Order: sequence, then structure tokens, then C-alpha cells
Amino acid sequence: MGLGVVKRIMKRIMKYGLMPFLILMVMLCFPITLNATEITEKSVSENAIVVVIDPGHGGKNAGAIYGGYIEKTLTLNTAKAVKEELEKYDGIKVYLTRDSDVDMELGERAAFAKEVDADLLLSLHYNMSELHKLFGTECWISAFGRCYAVGKDFSTIELEILTKEGLYDRGIKTRLNSRGTDYYGIIRSSTENDIPAVIIEHCHLDQENDKPYMDHNVWPQKYGVLDATAVARYFGLKSEQLGVDYSNEVHEATAVPDGKVSPDDTPPEWCEAEVTEVDEETGMIRGKLSAYDPDSRILYYTVSFDGGKTFGEYYRYEPDENGDVYFEVQAPDKKRTRLIVAALNIYGGLSQTELLYEGWLNYLPDEEAVEETIVITRQPTGLDEASKKLDETDVMNEDAGASKRVQSVFGFVLWVLFFGFSILSIGVAWKYFIDKKWRKNKENDKN
Ligand SMILES: [Zn+2]
Repeated sequence: MGLGVVKRIMKRIMKYGLMPFLILMVMLCFPITLNATEITEKSVSENAIVVVIDPGHGGKNAGAIYGGYIEKTLTLNTAKAVKEELEKYDGIKVYLTRDSDVDMELGERAAFAKEVDADLLLSLHYNMSELHKLFGTECWISAFGRCYAVGKDFSTIELEILTKEGLYDRGIKTRLNSRGTDYYGIIRSSTENDIPAVIIEHCHLDQENDKPYMDHNVWPQKYGVLDATAVARYFGLKSEQLGVDYSNEVHEATAVPDGKVSPDDTPPEWCEAEVTEVDEETGMIRGKLSAYDPDSRILYYTVSFDGGKTFGEYYRYEPDENGDVYFEVQAPDKKRTRLIVAALNIYGGLSQTELLYEGWLNYLPDEEAVEETIVITRQPTGLDEASKKLDETDVMNEDAGASKRVQSVFGFVLWVLFFGFSILSIGVAWKYFIDKKWRKNKENDKN
């Protein structure tokens, strides 16, 4: 294709496609301009502590969606509440990475924190797990140097405040990717800029145990106040308006580690349990367990009735002064019970006991029980588990559907643009073809 052809196509675009082209350019530039003004509007005052609050997700990235909860909305509401509360303190400047429902790359969020020279970046999140079993609150921090130490010290205060409300402490954790750097993008990018970043997973949206701590009307704002208090306590701020002064609060500073602080990738060293009572009438089994992990901490325990093939819900692992946790579980009716207990550490590593009890627990009237026993010996399948799995799949599909709807709006706009440009290109090409043919004919006429 010669230069003349390009020129002619450009001419055609100018003639037929200038407006759509301009509209497309404006649409592409709009978000960029928005962010740019956001940053330049913010002037950094000299000696103030600078904290950047990052509402996780946003735009077409909704985060966790469950039972009417949408993570990106919760995080934004919480972030606004953090800012409002923190601005009641002296000597602090607070920025939000986003203050509306917009898409934002993780690198962009970290770059913004760098731009305003942040002392701390808090990325706010709400959690959800695949099997809906996990519950509690946790903090993720960098595995490296000063960012680890600051992250650890802030998170200690944060989790102390949240667990005082009744939330279960899932711990302060690091996570590495296959290259051996921080796994989470926002932490990795911030650490590269020497800005300590903490991901706060306030609670789980999909778990019964956390239900008391996620009411739409109360908790997103309440978490904001609690997060702000943790920041104020960490930096030793005071507020006349609130009548609080944390400037004399002492907290032991974590030493800056030399190497990286790796997560615990091994299961608990041991998990032992004994059955103390089996009630054959009711199917109630009582016992005690004790587990140990030298690298991290035991977080949950759980029980299997099918010899360790499947485990049920998770329970808090809270040992008494002798290091024992007492359990009381209900064996499933009309099934052969093969009891095993397992303990999980804060990184999800699981260790289980030997088979603790095996037998038939029938708490049906005698005649019925015998009949059921015969039926069951013929088909010893875990029907309950199967239907439970089905329920879970349904929920997950529902979730996927909701985020797909958000995506499909964006997809539709893109599709319309693509379709428009295809038609335009065909038009231009057609016009060019006709033109060329016509000119050729004319030239032929001349010759
Ligand atoms: Zn999230």
C-alpha cells in the first residue's frame, strides 16, 4: 500500500468518520483526565501524617457478592467513614484512592499513594470463601523489611480493636507469589515504593458466624470508625473534637526483619483428640482435642463423620488453660459414623487425628432404625454432602451471574463501538474501491 492510499483513507475518515472517531477519543481520555485532576487537586501539607485509604475493587470489579452485599460498595462506604473520622484528629492528611464507583488498577492505587507521599496505605476489603466455611477478620502485610514491621504493628492494633467487637482473629499474614515477592499487587507495588500497605479483610459476607458484624446500615460505617481509631492509635494522634489523646500510647515496635517473613506452608505439627462420650440414642458425641503448630497458630477445628473424606463447618479453636478444646457434635442420622477431628492453622494447613470412633448411631425408633440400616448398607453414599455441594454451586452461580451482569453492560458498550467502527471501515473501504474503479475507468477512457 502506497502513501497515497493511506492519505486517501485518512481523507475518507475525515469526511465520514471524524465524529465517531472524536467521540471514541473523548471516551477513552475521560477516565484518565478524571484521575489526573483528582491528584493535582490534592496538596500535601508538610508535617502531617499522610494516610491513603483504598476502597477495594470498584467499577466492573465488584469484589465479593453475596446475599445482597456487594464488596465494592461496602469498601467505599467504609473508606468514606474512615476519612470523616480521621479528619477529626490533628496532624493528619487523609486521601481516598477512589471516592466513587470507578475502575482502578492496583498499580494506579499504589502510584497514587506514592504521589502524595503516604506514610501508610490501607486497602479495605470484605471477605468470602469458596465453601462459605471461613469466618473472622484478618490483615495481610508485606513480607519485607520496614513495610513488614509497620504493617505488623498497625495490624496488631487493628485486630485488637476489631476482635474486641467480637470478631474472630484470623491473624496477620504474609503471602508470597512464585517469584518470591509479595503476592497481593497493592502490597507488592507499595512495598516497591517503600510505603507500608495493609489489606484489611474486615469480616466474611457469606458466613453465619460473621452475620452479627455486617449489617448494611451499621457496620460499613462502624468499621470506618474502628479503622480510623486504629490509625490514630498507631500514629499517636489526638482529637479535641473527640476528646481523645493517643500521643502517650506506647506500643512495642516490631524489629525490621533481615530477610522475608514467609508464610507457614506446613500443616500443624500434631492434632490429637479423644472421645469421652457417645450417646447412641441422640447421636451426640463429646470429646476434647488439642493441636499445635510451632510456625503459626491453630485457628479452627472441624469434624468429619466419614473417616476424613469430607469435613463439616469450622469452629473457633479456643483452648482452656490446659490447652484443651472441648467439642460436642451431632453425628448424622442413619449413617455409619467414622469420626475424625482436624485442626487448621491460620494459613489453612490441616492436620487430622486417627479414626476416633466408628459405629452405627441410630436414634430412630427401633423398628424403623433396622429398616433404615438395611437400606443404607446397600447404598453407603454421602447424599447429604452431594446435596450440600449442589446448594453451594447454586450460590456461586448466582454470584457469578451478578458480576456478569455488571460486565455485560461494559461489554455491550464495547460491542456497539466495535460494530460502529466495522460498519464505518466497510463504508470507507467500499467508497475507496468504487472510487478507484471509477478513476480507472476514467483513465481507460482517456487512453
Ligand atoms: Zn476484596
